[in-house]
Amino acid sequence: MNLLEINDLYVTYTSANKVSSEKEIINAVNGINLDIKKGEILAVAGESGCGKSTLAKAIMKLVETKSGEIIYDDKNIVKIRKKEDLRHFYQKIQMIFQNPYSSLNPKMKIGKILSEPLKINTKYNKKEIEAILEQKLSDVGLDKSVLDLYPHEFSGGQRQRIAIARALMLSPEFIIADEPVSALDVSIQAQIINLIKSLKDNFNLTFLFISHDLGVIRYISDRIAIMYLGEIIEIGQTEEIFTDPKHPYTKALLGSVPQLDANEKKEDVKLTGELPSPRNLPSGCKFHTRCPYAMDKCKTQTPEEKEFTPTHKCKCFLFDE
Ligand code: SF4
Repeated sequence: MNLLEINDLYVTYTSANKVSSEKEIINAVNGINLDIKKGEILAVAGESGCGKSTLAKAIMKLVETKSGEIIYDDKNIVKIRKKEDLRHFYQKIQMIFQNPYSSLNPKMKIGKILSEPLKINTKYNKKEIEAILEQKLSDVGLDKSVLDLYPHEFSGGQRQRIAIARALMLSPEFIIADEPVSALDVSIQAQIINLIKSLKDNFNLTFLFISHDLGVIRYISDRIAIMYLGEIIEIGQTEEIFTDPKHPYTKALLGSVPQLDANEKKEDVKLTGELPSPRNLPSGCKFHTRCPYAMDKCKTQTPEEKEFTPTHKCKCFLFDE
């Protein structure tokens, strides 16, 4: 069952050119179609600048969308404007940010940071709020002794646990985690990843997990969507992507991940050049400027999505009959 459906989503920004000061359009998300199933961890992977975070912000209504729909609870959330509807929406969907150092207000004690969402959005009394705080802290492996302290008194891993507790405060059903471990020491990363996994299982949560780290993604996700210049170019179950990647870009990304199993097909596809600017998208297949297999038609025609299994799909002309 789908929890969220994204249909033909486009997001553009306008920014001033540093040299000429003329306004330029940045094409951050370019026609995304994506379903997120209830209870799964769907990972979105790709190089930095590929539009992963903009996609997350579009779902959270932190950026305006140019066109397309995001359907949640039978409502197109792109169109939600009423305060009451927005409040209902933010109770169901929460976000964990990359940097636990900047995402917690340094001037507020943890007790205030965590109780604020409950005070604003619910009618719980003081005693009930205290009980919820204690429970949510226990869910993330902390206890109530943290409530009287400030964020700077904690390590990065503890701060990220507090940020996760804050995201859980209103008992959401869907959480977007944007690079939640990339600012943490490697030794701490596994603890936070295991925490996210156990929260998903214990509370039947659904996650959109954004990361550039395919090793982390392999461990945590049920499905993976590979993103390139604002487009999903391959999607499949985690093992499908790792054992039988189709798109040359996916193969190039996987090249840097250690092989776990001798059955994995590893093709040595090297990425050449830089990610093109989203100000000036390549025509045809957007990957053609870096693809070692590019043909003439790749420069002018856009490949349709091909289905390999009901869950594994990819956009590339190499699979045309
Ligand atoms: Fe490469 Fe062409 Fe496939 Fe694009 S469509 S990935 S350029 S072979």
